[in-house]
Amino acid sequence: MPKWRRLAKKNGYSYFVISDHSKTAVYAGGLTEAQIIAQQKEITTLNASGGIKIYSSIECDILNDGTLDYDDAVLKTFDLVIVSIHQNLKMDIDKATQRLLRAIENPYTTILGHMTGRLLLSRPGYPVDHKKIIDACAANDVVIEINANPYRLDIDHTYIPYAMEKGVMISINPDAHSIEGIGDIKWGVISARKGGLTKAMCWNAQSLETVDNWLIARKKKKGIL
Ligand SMILES: [Zn+2]
Repeated sequence: MPKWRRLAKKNGYSYFVISDHSKTAVYAGGLTEAQIIAQQKEITTLNASGGIKIYSSIECDILNDGTLDYDDAVLKTFDLVIVSIHQNLKMDIDKATQRLLRAIENPYTTILGHMTGRLLLSRPGYPVDHKKIIDACAANDVVIEINANPYRLDIDHTYIPYAMEKGVMISINPDAHSIEGIGDIKWGVISARKGGLTKAMCWNAQSLETVDNWLIARKKKKGIL
């Protein structure tokens, strides 16, 4: 059994989300359109072999103007899309908020990744109007990530109560760049608990069946299925 399957079994996971970097992130091995097709083929084969379900995703770059770095024809092929800012981080609060809002309004956006881009102890992250962003996520059925990397823990736990009040679900994402990196999820769980996140509002604490249905229902609602 491959290492990742063993780890999934040991930790009781019933699904994985595979989300490589997107093509703008060349420095991080971002996938070209051709590589995406190849990866999705592999995922389909693995899913057909049974066991743990793999969702095809991407950590899509939010460009300077708030658009995403793949065409809709490509975005359409994923089960879900995580969107994040990785470049041009020097922004004032209006610019950063507008950039994120445009990305949140994209119908293909499923999860907003590391909202402020902060790196604890080294980079404060760009300033954002958290309430406006959370309100937009509520209006557009977008899930907010707690990035579980211990140097990120972004969104900050102090905004979890407001997100829950607005009906916005939180996903605790390990930001794993290796199989071992999945273990970081524990830091995200601690941060989420500190913010009072409930199981019902934690997107990736839901069953496989619930997540499957949620993703399909959301795509239908957005008219992108
Ligand atoms: Zn990222």
